[in-house]
Amino acid sequence: MLKFSPKVFLFDMDGVIFDSMPYHARSWHLAFKSEGIEFSEYAVYLQEGATGSKTVNDVFMAQKGRLATQEEINRIYANKCRNFEQCGEPKPMPVMDKVLELLLANGKTVGLVTGSGQKSLFTTLNKYYPGIFVPERMVTAFDVKKGKPDPEPYLMGLQKCGVSASEAVVVENAPMGVQAAKAAGIFTIAVNTGILDSLCLRDAGADVVFDSVTALLDFLTKSI
Ligand code: MG
Repeated sequence: MLKFSPKVFLFDMDGVIFDSMPYHARSWHLAFKSEGIEFSEYAVYLQEGATGSKTVNDVFMAQKGRLATQEEINRIYANKCRNFEQCGEPKPMPVMDKVLELLLANGKTVGLVTGSGQKSLFTTLNKYYPGIFVPERMVTAFDVKKGKPDPEPYLMGLQKCGVSASEAVVVENAPMGVQAAKAAGIFTIAVNTGILDSLCLRDAGADVVFDSVTALLDFLTKSI
C-alpha cells in the first residue's frame, strides 16, 4: 500500500471541526423567512462554504432575478448572525479531536480554511482545540475576496502553510468547499457529517468520501 504522506492538512471549520451546520441552516432559513423569502435548510447545506454576501446574492438571483443591494445583504447577514448567536455555542464535531491528535502525533501540520465570519466561533475554536489552530495558518472570510467555491481561500491556505498543492490534503464537508479545494489542485477528502446525499460531494469532485468522522479516523490510522 502506498504511504499517504502529505505534510499539511487543511480543515474546513463548519460541519468539520464544529457540529455547527444545523445552527447555520436554521439561522439562514429564519433570516430569509423574515424577508418573505423561502430558503430551505437543505439549500443552506448546498450553499455552505460561500461567503454571506454570495449566499444572499445567489438566493436573490434565483428567486428575484436580480442581485441584492448592499443594504439587503447587510441586513440579512446581520440577521443571520444574530440568529446564530442565539442558537448557543456550537459543539465540537465528535471524534475530530482524535483525528487532530493523530495527525499532530505523526508530525503533520494543520491549518484552517473557512468561509465563516462568525467571530464567536474563533473563541470557541480555542476553547475546544487549544493551540491547534493558530492565526498564522488560518484563512477566514476576512482574508479573501471571492470565497469558496473559488480556489482563493485554499490557495491562501497553502501559502500560509508554506507548501504546494501536492504536499497538502483538504478535509471538507460541503460541495462548494470541495470544488474550491479541487480548483486549488489539492487532494480532497470529503466527510459527510450533514444531511446531504453523499453523491453531492462525489459530484463536486472529492477524491474520497467518508460517511463519518470515525471512518476518516480509521482510514488515517491505517494509512499515515
Ligand atoms: Mg463546512
